[in-house]
Amino acid sequence: MGRIIGIDLGTTYSCAAIYLGGKLQVIPCKGSNTVPSMVAIDEKGRELVGHDAKRQAVINPVNTIHGSKRLIGRNFNAKTTEVIRRHYRYEMNEDNHGNVLIHMAGKDYTLTDVAALVLDRMRDYAQEFLQEKVERAVVTVPAYFNDRQRQSVKEAGKKIDLDVVRIINEPTAAALAYGFNKGLNEKVLMYDMGGGTFDVSVLSIRDKVFEVLATGGNTFLGGVDFDDRIISFVAKKFKDQHNVDLTADAIAIQRIRDAAEKARIDLSTVEEVAFSIPYIAVDAAGQPLTIDMKLNRAILNGLTKDLVDKSFRIVDQVLADAKLTPKDVDHVLLVGGVTRMPLVTERVKSYFGKPPAKSVNPDEAVALGAAIMAYSLEENSDLQITLLDVVPISIGIALPNFKFLKIFERNTPIPNYKSKVFTTYKDNQTQIQVQIRQGEAENALNNEILGNFVFTGIRPAPKGVPKVEAIFHLDPEGILTVTARDKDTGTQHETIINLKGDNAPSAEQ
Ligand code: ADP
Ligand code: MG
Repeated sequence: MGRIIGIDLGTTYSCAAIYLGGKLQVIPCKGSNTVPSMVAIDEKGRELVGHDAKRQAVINPVNTIHGSKRLIGRNFNAKTTEVIRRHYRYEMNEDNHGNVLIHMAGKDYTLTDVAALVLDRMRDYAQEFLQEKVERAVVTVPAYFNDRQRQSVKEAGKKIDLDVVRIINEPTAAALAYGFNKGLNEKVLMYDMGGGTFDVSVLSIRDKVFEVLATGGNTFLGGVDFDDRIISFVAKKFKDQHNVDLTADAIAIQRIRDAAEKARIDLSTVEEVAFSIPYIAVDAAGQPLTIDMKLNRAILNGLTKDLVDKSFRIVDQVLADAKLTPKDVDHVLLVGGVTRMPLVTERVKSYFGKPPAKSVNPDEAVALGAAIMAYSLEENSDLQITLLDVVPISIGIALPNFKFLKIFERNTPIPNYKSKVFTTYKDNQTQIQVQIRQGEAENALNNEILGNFVFTGIRPAPKGVPKVEAIFHLDPEGILTVTARDKDTGTQHETIINLKGDNAPSAEQ
């Protein structure tokens, strides 16, 4: 069996790494360490992935997919999808199963297809670097990904014959990179703010044991939200100045988005930047108009402070779930590009009463952690790592009155299993259907649907008599399977359901 690589499949940037000859290293990708998670079709109909896709994004926003990890494993009709749809310029449709399809240059892509293209590109770089075939990988996902999102990433691997041997959570991976081979005994908090998602985990590290105590996050909080604030600010100023509305112009907005991200990154190191975009529109007389203004850190902070506040409310929650106070945290680690913003580092300092530890590279830590895990899973590996993670979002079932009955509360350690006995509510009922959902809402309909579990072949009997025992099993990757057994007949009639949510009604999360 060949080597296993680690891949951080990021919303904005992906990164691959390997533990090779006792050395942990990032796999170089065309001169850089990270690859834009973008797919595009250019005017000649060529499919572009990564750097090539990003390079032409400004002139081809409709046929360039970016940020699509935010959509993976979500229903077309879900509220979340609706929000994202307003964000991106590429066309989205619904497939027969209620999933999102991206339509680009006459071709339909599922979100799994898009993830597969990016994974394949990362694998290409790894193969080039290692000069051997790569067929297995450990892939990371946001800790706050639900079951369906995790499944979709596994499927993406299958599509390209890349065996995703294990999915691990991004902050957990970053903690591995931090604590590996250090013989630590401490509690750390990982604050991971990337391009589109925010995750926070608090872990106890005891040498080679990495135990997640609690995790939380928001799959709608990241760099693009910061950029949106700048875009609105700039578009409004432009409207005030020239009475021209830029928001309906896809190319103009894409150009402002690019400039906004660049300005935001620059403002991490300088106090003020020029924000200029020539020929962004024309006025009523056909004269070209130009954006020409200045942005400074104070303006940026004012526009985005509430986003940082929002992240710290999640930190509050995670610490409360772990029954810890900020003082109990020995080190705070920052992961994700957005944590380079002074606004974030200052807040960390005031919240925890100490500056963040500087020991991991925010862009590479996740991939490096995945590579450590990957190496420990190789045959004949001399590395033993114990990863104990938790389920990030409660999993339960919808009761007939739509109340949500939690089977696993959020932050339940995984792997885990629970059993529950179901019965019939009508005489001679021969099947029982249970709807499994994931979320924190009391009204089950407000939680994301994972799937319908149907147990058939029950012996006809008066209502309430048949007893079907269902076992809900969460594997170490946080993926759920359900097994059921008819307790009365004693026959080991077992049904294993892999919950994929196909044909599931729309979810509202
Ligand atoms: P993801 O894991 O979601 O792919 P990353 O961790 O690579 O994301 O972070 C990407 C985000 O970080 C982008 O929004 C990018 O603009 C932002 N970013 C990168 N460097 C900086 C910086 N120096 N200052 C502020 N933001 C940055
Ligand atoms: Mg990331």
